[in-house]
Amino acid sequence: MKKRILVTGGAGFLGSHLCRYLLSEGNEVLCLDNFYTGAKDNVVDLICNPYFEIIRHDITFPIYLEVDQIYNLACPASPVYYQKYPIQTTKTNVSGAINVLGLAKRLSIPVLQASTSEIYGDPSIHPQTEDYWGNVNCTGIRSCYDEGKRCAETLFFDYYRELGLDIRVARIFNTYGPNMAVNDGRVVSNFIVQALTGKQITIYGDGSQTRSLCYVDDLIQGLVTLMNTRGIHEPVNLGNPTERTILELAENIISETKSGSSIRYESLPEDDPKQRCPDISKARKMLGWEPKVEFEKGIRKTITFFKEKLSITD
Ligand code: NAD
Ligand code: UDP
Repeated sequence: MKKRILVTGGAGFLGSHLCRYLLSEGNEVLCLDNFYTGAKDNVVDLICNPYFEIIRHDITFPIYLEVDQIYNLACPASPVYYQKYPIQTTKTNVSGAINVLGLAKRLSIPVLQASTSEIYGDPSIHPQTEDYWGNVNCTGIRSCYDEGKRCAETLFFDYYRELGLDIRVARIFNTYGPNMAVNDGRVVSNFIVQALTGKQITIYGDGSQTRSLCYVDDLIQGLVTLMNTRGIHEPVNLGNPTERTILELAENIISETKSGSSIRYESLPEDDPKQRCPDISKARKMLGWEPKVEFEKGIRKTITFFKEKLSITD
């Protein structure tokens, strides 16, 4: 049945894909964004669709709308941007969660929180299962994001326990794909842009830290399946369990782009997690979901996107 769905952070990387997918399924979509890291360009092709609306709004302020579901994605996800205005990052996570939860409570509707693998911090168990409580510094430069997201989860579970709200919490692991901003600062977009423009590839630390990268289409399927599966009132990891080092990623991207770029080693940022890999047994069992897109295919599509963005011809 056609639903009216609010996507906060809808003009961002994941939000723009989610809006597009929800529209393609016949829903009406309200895309709310303050355009801090998102861009109208990401959704410009949707503007002529009468079932799509853009609302310029900062989610740290309350908003009154009539919708059937909420996906709460509003929050800068790149360390560069969430660390630039850390107070606003915490406010977006905490006040933003309170505002979307208040809206969901008034309307008695399901609300999904885009949480993160960052709530595990620099993990001491590997791969990370949902019952791991994490290893997070509460006063460091990543804390505005990590602790903000942890507090948002707390709020979601208290609204569930105290008020019976129909919540979902997705713990998203590193995701990549088209619609990442050229200057986003996250590793995949940085490496591809550097490789395509002949700049040195900047590896922070010695490149031995690991990440597990999920292609955006898989992640969106996971989010929508989680939202539409009844009664999952517990956190669920969503990500691709294929782990690689950052050095391997740089080498892959250099090879896929046939770039002549060399590698430059820079200092590792404070509190940068050494390893990250999701245990997705729960998502497999409860949602019947697992990633399908192979890394080589996903990275090629992402490279094609950046070539177009940067007007690079072969
Ligand atoms: P993004 O930065 O591309 O998108 C975030 C969007 O939220 C942007 O459009 C931004 O303008 C908007 N926004 C920021 N603060 C806002 C505010 N106060 N009010 C309204 N809009 C605001 O990031 P993304 O990768 O698309 O991530 C989306 C969500 O998923 C975030 O909550 C992020 O924490 C979560 N997440 C993403 C990843 C990933 O790898 N992409 C991993 C874990 C979690
Ligand atoms: N990284 C890097 N070079 C870059 C950007 C990031 O080596 O130009 C590293 C970063 O230090 C981290 C990993 O790549 O170890 C992933 O960084 P990203 O910012 O994408 O996300 P994170 O998982 O740290 O939130």
